[in-house]
Amino acid sequence: MERNTRQRSAIRDAIAQAQRPLLPQEVLEAARTEVPGLGIATVYRNLKALVEEGELQVVNLPGENPRFEVVGHRHHHHFQCRQCQRVFDVHACPGDLGRLAPQGFTVEDHDLTLYGRCSDCTPSKAHLSPTETTRAPRRSGASAA
Ligand SMILES: [Zn+2]
Ligand SMILES: [Zn+2]
Repeated sequence: MERNTRQRSAIRDAIAQAQRPLLPQEVLEAARTEVPGLGIATVYRNLKALVEEGELQVVNLPGENPRFEVVGHRHHHHFQCRQCQRVFDVHACPGDLGRLAPQGFTVEDHDLTLYGRCSDCTPSKAHLSPTETTRAPRRSGASAA
């Protein structure tokens, strides 16, 4: 396969396989397994081209660098993990939110992002509760036992 084609398909595949929007840096790390020596400038160039070709679309979350996802899935929302910063797809929608708008306003569209912790970042063990970890005992006054 021609070098440029191989780079581009590796970049597109990385995003398709992740099944979530990726930052260019995340695309680079994933696509490098297919194309060793891939550089970030090449990733940016191909992402731009893939958006122009209608294969990828940009996901802009407030205050975040643009992420890229595959075009074509239906209306969906996103979840951002506050711990690892990764963004995931949410395939659920509260539906018509017109009732939230001021009286006399017409809602035409909505954008919804959930924030919290992903399953990887949610401690499963009970003893890792945040209250305990933030209240770790200070050893300053303790004498050697
Ligand atoms: Zn996480
Ligand atoms: Zn929705």
